Amino acid sequence: MSARAQIGVTGLAVMGRNLARNFARHGYTTAVHNRSFAKTQSLIADHGSDGDFIPSESMADFVASLERPRKVVVMVKAGAATDAVIAELVPLLEQGDIIIDAGNAHFPDTRRREAELKEKGLHYVGTGVSGGEEGALNGPSIMPGGAPESYETLGPILEDISAKVDGVPCCTYVGPDGAGHFVKMVHNGIEYADMQLIAEAYDLLKQGLGASAQEIGEIFAEWNKGDLESFLIEITADVLQHVDAETGKAFVDVILDRAEQKGTGRWTVQNALDLGVPITGIAEATFARALSGSVPQRTAAVGVLPADAGTWEITDRDAFVEDVRRALYSSKVVAYSQGFDQIAAASQEFGWNIDRGAMARIWRGGCIIRARFLNRITEAYERDENLPLLLADPYFTQTVGEGVSSWRRVVSQAALNGVPTPAFSSSLAYYDGVRAERLPAALIQAQRDFFGAHTYQRVDKPGVFHTEWSGDR
Ligand code: NAP
Repeated sequence: MSARAQIGVTGLAVMGRNLARNFARHGYTTAVHNRSFAKTQSLIADHGSDGDFIPSESMADFVASLERPRKVVVMVKAGAATDAVIAELVPLLEQGDIIIDAGNAHFPDTRRREAELKEKGLHYVGTGVSGGEEGALNGPSIMPGGAPESYETLGPILEDISAKVDGVPCCTYVGPDGAGHFVKMVHNGIEYADMQLIAEAYDLLKQGLGASAQEIGEIFAEWNKGDLESFLIEITADVLQHVDAETGKAFVDVILDRAEQKGTGRWTVQNALDLGVPITGIAEATFARALSGSVPQRTAAVGVLPADAGTWEITDRDAFVEDVRRALYSSKVVAYSQGFDQIAAASQEFGWNIDRGAMARIWRGGCIIRARFLNRITEAYERDENLPLLLADPYFTQTVGEGVSSWRRVVSQAALNGVPTPAFSSSLAYYDGVRAERLPAALIQAQRDFFGAHTYQRVDKPGVFHTEWSGDR
């Protein structure tokens, strides 16, 4: 077996198969392998003409077919499967070889694996890949972590196969060890928030205007021409205008209203709790999916819990649509602002030195949250790389500020009329919380001192104080 493949992919389910095809289409001789050989054979049978593939049935032959330093992309189920593949690969690799874990690994696993393989002289590059199977084939957004040296040889190949926006690759070195998978995790968390916000906007238009799915789809298509232009808004317009062939009804109306999840939203929220970063938009979005799946609770509540709600009386349709659009935009900026705070906190905690502007840049294409306004985020971090709050960048202060009264109207109308808008409402509460000169947290601190002698600080002099409260009761 001559070692002439420039890159290898093991794990040829939908993602790995398409990534391998993407490498081959870009002119790279691509070694391919899968635990069960049938998938390797089917890739070659169906797409062998895409480029120069070297298929192998055994892992040993696969590794032997790679040029050094070997670059092996592992694209298997996250968790135990990834560990099993690494265990099989390691004895076959040599100093300086690179394992690229492109699955959706949890970043603490990536940190552990990177440390273990470093001891053996191997590079382990935990890499976020976004864009689903279509992105994998035609250009995903790629977020590689690991040691910076590995990026010298690997980076150009990954940049080559990534999506491009204005000629700029949607791939850059993110930071050491688990940084790539961490950023991909937060990307997915933001995706949860974005999708929930869109769903709430849809619900408001449906309930407020009594509009049909088709009509709301048209509104989304219109919104996609402005600041909200993004992949998710675009597909929402398509989904809402799609008709179920079987029943002739709007497709969205025949789908069971339970949103599932694979876990990256949950990981994002768990980590935010660990770091103490309020990511309320992402958290509410994750819980909203959980609520949708809480069948016993919903069954117990429907038709039983009194609504005592008002009825919608929209007199100016266009003004209401514009209010919802602005509320959506502002809440979306909050979700991103919170997500970027989480990235900054983790970067500080783990010494990753992540460039947040660069993350917004590589999310502009290929990935699910690709959006026009990511350019604005990159510009904000270019103006100030240490920006403490994205919302406080002058551009976002202005654009969100212009929509605040719309946002308040929408959230209050929703509450008065009994329409749940957890992500819209919590984002507005965050906005008001973060801009408040004084929060009621002072009272909480006093309570803590009362029952637990937890001490407090004063506004009028430095130091840490405790009050003997016993005389007060
Ligand atoms: P998948 O369904 O997550 O995994 C199937 C692949 O894993 C098959 O190649 C399977 O081999 C292999 N595998 C499972 N257990 C194994 C084991 N113990 N040893 C060796 N191989 C094993 O595939 P996918 O949907 O293509 O996703 C691959 C990775 O990309 C996952 O980590 C996923 O989370 C991530 N990802 C997916 C998407 C997406 O849109 N699907 C997007 C981004 C990232 P056999 O064929 O032999 O069973």
